[in-house]
This record gives sequence, structure tokens and C-alpha cells, in this order.
Amino acid sequence: LATGVVGRRKKAPKDKEYEFFYFVQQWPGSVCDAKRACCYPKTGRPVSDFGIHGLWPTYNDGSYPSSCDSTLSFDVTLVEDLKGRLEEGWPTLACPSGDGLKFWSHEWSKHGTCSKSVFNEREYFQDALDLKNKINLLKVLTDAGIEPNDEFYELQDVQEAIKKGLGYYPKLQCNEDMEGNSQIYQVYLCVDKLGKDLIECPIPPRANCPSRVQFPKFYELAATRMCWAHRASVSQKA
Ligand code: 5GP
Ligand code: 5GP
Repeated sequence: LATGVVGRRKKAPKDKEYEFFYFVQQWPGSVCDAKRACCYPKTGRPVSDFGIHGLWPTYNDGSYPSSCDSTLSFDVTLVEDLKGRLEEGWPTLACPSGDGLKFWSHEWSKHGTCSKSVFNEREYFQDALDLKNKINLLKVLTDAGIEPNDEFYELQDVQEAIKKGLGYYPKLQCNEDMEGNSQIYQVYLCVDKLGKDLIECPIPPRANCPSRVQFPKFYELAATRMCWAHRASVSQKA
């Protein structure tokens, strides 16, 4: 099983107001070296940094509303001036390669519309980008000696480094690379209902990661593929 449960995730009624946000960032190295692999966005290879996955309205018990208003479909003209920032900070890694619109549209429709009491579409994306700017996760980790260099780290050290750097504990979600190593895949931080400040997560962290986790390099895709081909040929010979 590549990804696992982080917290409780029942869907809940859409008419109840959400209570906080999960701000979820993904590590591109772990998206791309997993079995499902990845595709670079049409706009080019993302930088080697965490990218936004989403800003998700959630209830304090861990359940969450979704797809709250089908009349508010994603309108790209409303975020035209944010496009450059979205491409950089919220890149799509799904296949086939896209320009990001599908990913952003999905996130807005599924999650964003559930925070319409606080944000319109433009404000929703602007807020997520501003959060990303404020929260330099990669710097916090590298300052603590936790670098994307294929090394393994104690999960607790990773969590403590984020707590020390940002003031709040994250939830970590792991997935597996092709060799079955558990690696840092997504980092969940909790943000207050107005989308402004980090808060302590209402639900105690329940990471699906083992006690030691890899922090993989974000390899060039060509290198990743060659690496797999090499491993496959080695295991065939063995
Ligand atoms: P996964 O099963 O990959 O962890 O999550 C699948 C999708 O369910 C996520 O991309 C997200 O859209 C939604 N989701 C998962 N957990 C939560 C949560 O705790 N809160 C909210 N609001 N959405 C979640
Ligand atoms: P969620 O898990 O938020 O419900 O949905 C994520 C959706 O966005 C999936 O349909 C997935 O294919 C698409 N998607 C596009 N680009 C990305 C990406 O870079 N990361 C993830 N996790 N999903 C992406």
C-alpha cells in the first residue's frame, strides 16, 4: 500500500462549516520515484522544493466536506495574474503532463468551494501561495540537517525539526519508492479557519510513516527511469 491513512477522513455533510484547514505540501522526489511515477508540467521541471497539494477545509474530528458548490466552477481568468506563482508553487506532477489547470480546478471544486464563506476563488489560491511563502519547509528541514539526499532520518527528528522551525507539529504522510523504502511524501500543517496562521492540529498527529524515513533526492526523470531499468535488469539476472 503506497499511501496510508493520516487522521480520520470520513466525508461529512457539506452544509456544516469547516473548522480548520490542512495545508498539504508534496515532495516531488517522492511523487516521482514511486511506482505510479510522475510527469513534469508542460511549463517545465519544477524546482526541487515542496509543492502545494492543497488547502483543505476540515472538521475538528478529522472528517471533511467536499465539493460544496458545483455552481462555483473554476474560472482561470480569476487567477490569471497568479498563474506564474501557481506554476512555481503548485506544480502538477500527474500524468500526462498538464499545465496545472486541471489540478487547480480539481482542488478548487473539491476543497476550495467548501471555504467559500471565507474565500472567493482568487483569495483561496492567493492564500495558499502566501502560506507557502511564509512556511519555508525545505529550509526548516535543511537547517536541521535533514536534506533531500536519499538518507534515512528518524521520523521523530523530522517532526521535531518542523516543530522547532515553524512552532507546530506536522503530520507526515509517507509513500514507498520502487524498492519499498518509506519516504517523506506529504507534510500536513494545520491552519486556522481564516487561513492565516498555523495552529496546533486539532487531531493528534497520526503519521503513517515508520520510525525511519527516507528523504529522496528529486532526480531528473531520465535518471530515475535509467535507474529503474538498471535495477530491473539486475534483478532479472539475479
Ligand atoms: P489520500 O487517500 O490520498 O490520503 O487522500 C485522497 C484525497 O482525499 C486527498 O487528496 C484529499 O483531497 C482528500 N483528503 C484526504 N484526507 C483529508 C483530510 O483530512 N481533510 C480533507 N479536507 N481532505 C482530505
Ligand atoms: P485529491 O487527492 O486532492 O482529491 O486529488 C488529487 C487529484 O489531482 C487527482 O485526481 C490527481 O490525479 C490530480 N493531480 C494532478 N496533479 C497532481 C499532483 O501533482 N499531485 C497530486 N497528489 N495529485 C495531482
